[in-house]
Amino acid sequence: SKSKDFLLAVEGLTVSFDGFKAVDDLSFYLDPNEIRVIIGPNGAGKTTVLDLICGKTRATSGSIRFQGRELTKMKEHQIVHSGVGRKFQTPSVFEDLTVFENLEVSYPQGHSVMGALAFKRDLAVVEEIEAVARTIFLEDMLEQPASLLSHGQKQWLEIGMLLIQKPKLIMLDEPVAGMSVVERKKTAELLKVITHEHTVLVIEHDMQFVGDIADRVTVMHQGKVLSEGSIEHVKSDPKVIEVYLGH
Ligand code: ADP
Repeated sequence: SKSKDFLLAVEGLTVSFDGFKAVDDLSFYLDPNEIRVIIGPNGAGKTTVLDLICGKTRATSGSIRFQGRELTKMKEHQIVHSGVGRKFQTPSVFEDLTVFENLEVSYPQGHSVMGALAFKRDLAVVEEIEAVARTIFLEDMLEQPASLLSHGQKQWLEIGMLLIQKPKLIMLDEPVAGMSVVERKKTAELLKVITHEHTVLVIEHDMQFVGDIADRVTVMHQGKVLSEGSIEHVKSDPKVIEVYLGH
């Protein structure tokens, strides 16, 4: 199989909703430690692809192989345990907990929110939390309640809550939505740093940001791959130009 050396191999993936193929015989392959961005017009099937990978939606046919394991038959929590993390567009942090506590409750082997408050902190865990806080630019905010963070800082905290679980694959849906220009630049830096240990799959509309982060871009249209390659390649592909200008 072609899927041998890939971190993630999506092959012939299809899902129908009442006969409508939202994802239609889709194949793409992620190398370890790359940043791949999926772009495409509204309704192209981008969100559905992430839903299929994380098990939120069941495929009608096709396969999703991740580190050699088939995900399409697995339950959502098994997919999380096998090393796939996903962040949705809207930040969902625990507003009343500090930045530190938000990271602590996300630590694997999950301490409950109440338990975390009384949890006797293990030095190794504290060091990991501090390292993640540095990565997400929040090392000086560890004792602040999350409610005091800006929208962008909450997005970073949510990325941190994924990082602390050490997933191999991190999927992000429009991570810079609502961010300032400076926050977008810092997010691009953050994503590049985390590719030392993670592979990143992003849905994004902001083409400036796509150009800043993408190793490769997969363009989706009507549930299929329309074009794939470097940002320069897909931007100059006549098929892509036609779809974007035609809308
Ligand atoms: P994108 O993220 O590229 O905007 P989506 O993946 O959200 O596209 O949607 C692709 C298509 O599938 C859309 O036409 C959408 O209405 C449809 N769709 C997505 N999820 C469902 C569902 N659960 N039931 C029915 N139709 C759906």
